[in-house]
Amino acid sequence: MKDPIYEPKGRAAEYADLALNLYTGCTNGCTYCYAPGVLRRSREDFAGNAVPRKGILEALERQLLSGEFAGKTVHLCFTCDPFPSGVDTQVARDAIELLKGADANVQILTKNPSIAAHSCACLLGEKDSIGTTITGAPQLVEPNAEPSELRLSALEAVHDLGIGTWISCEPIIDPEAIYELISTCDFVDLFKFGKLNYATIDLDWAHVGKRVERLCREHDRCYMIKDSLRKEMDAR
Ligand code: SF4
Repeated sequence: MKDPIYEPKGRAAEYADLALNLYTGCTNGCTYCYAPGVLRRSREDFAGNAVPRKGILEALERQLLSGEFAGKTVHLCFTCDPFPSGVDTQVARDAIELLKGADANVQILTKNPSIAAHSCACLLGEKDSIGTTITGAPQLVEPNAEPSELRLSALEAVHDLGIGTWISCEPIIDPEAIYELISTCDFVDLFKFGKLNYATIDLDWAHVGKRVERLCREHDRCYMIKDSLRKEMDAR
């Protein structure tokens, strides 16, 4: 296997300078998932094959020997969830242990943050973060992931441990739920907002983006609006 830590391109680069993908698929079953298309796999194959990439830990250990990742932040993961539901996630803990051993910072994005917290919170500090995705969609859109309420309570517990927290509101599916989130979630250190890009939905994106930004300012939230949403806002 080639060096597994890589520099994301395009929209993913707005989330992180460096990233690492641990599994060959994801069991969370999100209906809007773009990963099977990007990886040219069927949804069934992608969902049914969430196993650690062959040789991932050995390759990661080898790459970290260079020492070049000390003080840098590595995002886990873009084409899978680092803690997929119903799967042995020991590889994620092992990878995080290797990254922390190389003095890298870890930025986790998972729809199962209670599993993540249980697995690896003890390895993380204030320069690391656990984030989750909240789209506002009903559970049937993300059928195997933790319910949104559990994701939020897990994130609050992570925050109480002194670990960074963030929420990716991308894709926004139900804006009202996102507005509520901004107003109430004091335990979130950073919000990131993005539109639905790989399917169509009947939303006035400029209005949604502007309302999200206004609420973040009102509630003194740290936030980032992704370029494709910002463009819709700027066009009006
Ligand atoms: S958690 Fe991410 S990778 Fe997994 S199915 Fe959902 S969108 Fe796809």
